[in-house]
Amino acid sequence: MAGLKIERLWKRYNDTAVVKEVDLEINDKEFIVFVGPSGCGKSTTLRMIAGLEGISDGEIYIGGRVVNNVVPADRDIAMVFQNYALYPHMSVYDNIAFNLKLRKVPKKEIDRRVREAAKVLEIEEYLQRKPGALSGGQRQRVALGRAIVREPQVFLLDEPLSNLDAKMRVQMRSEIVNLHQRLKTTFIYVTHDQTEAMTMGDRIVIMKDGVIQQVGTPEEVYDQ
Ligand code: ADP
Ligand code: ADP
Repeated sequence: MAGLKIERLWKRYNDTAVVKEVDLEINDKEFIVFVGPSGCGKSTTLRMIAGLEGISDGEIYIGGRVVNNVVPADRDIAMVFQNYALYPHMSVYDNIAFNLKLRKVPKKEIDRRVREAAKVLEIEEYLQRKPGALSGGQRQRVALGRAIVREPQVFLLDEPLSNLDAKMRVQMRSEIVNLHQRLKTTFIYVTHDQTEAMTMGDRIVIMKDGVIQQVGTPEEVYDQ
């Protein structure tokens, strides 16, 4: 069971609540999109799921286990950010392999996973290049590769396409949806872009001012 459950989740900075009493169940293998205006608490919610941000109140369960006190590395998640966060001095191969090396995964296994991810993402030709020699779309594929090789139960994606030009953004949308179908894992995707939400999500969570306003399929939340 790799689903996710959020119960009465709060985040406060000093006395200001930016996530308020959020309740949500995310199904195993679901593609769920959080959408809403800038500053509504999407990123903060995702970062709490990742363990990058402390929880003020409430519970997060991943695969049936409370993870409130579990460090990010032990949460069986991988996160992809808008700014790629690649290491500029390392090759694409080493960027993708880096986390597995830290975890002392055997070299042969690392090589297998890196090459498989590169194949899926069609970046095999670029493995020896540095990130600086790549286009935005290629860099985002490397960032996705780095997440894939961890083989997590849950992928967290925070505005992964917002630094790309319009054409690449449309292309990467369908690539990410294909990737989800191929990996058969849970994807939690944050965006302020309604079109992205509508075209990518199995279900959409609409947030405003730290509160979930509506949850449903694209048809349910937009066709009314
Ligand atoms: P979104 O991802 O929807 O754009 P965020 O989750 O990034 O929104 O931010 C929600 C609110 O929390 C914003 O008002 C933001 O300014 C505030 N916020 C985020 N991080 C901090 C922080 N470290 N300290 C204080 N306020 C923060
Ligand atoms: P995003 O919405 O993509 O997170 P932001 O500009 O809101 O982008 O936030 C960038 C970083 O600054 C985040 O790590 C966030 O936690 C932090 N941050 C955002 N708002 C505040 C704030 N009011 N005070 C302190 N840190 C903040």
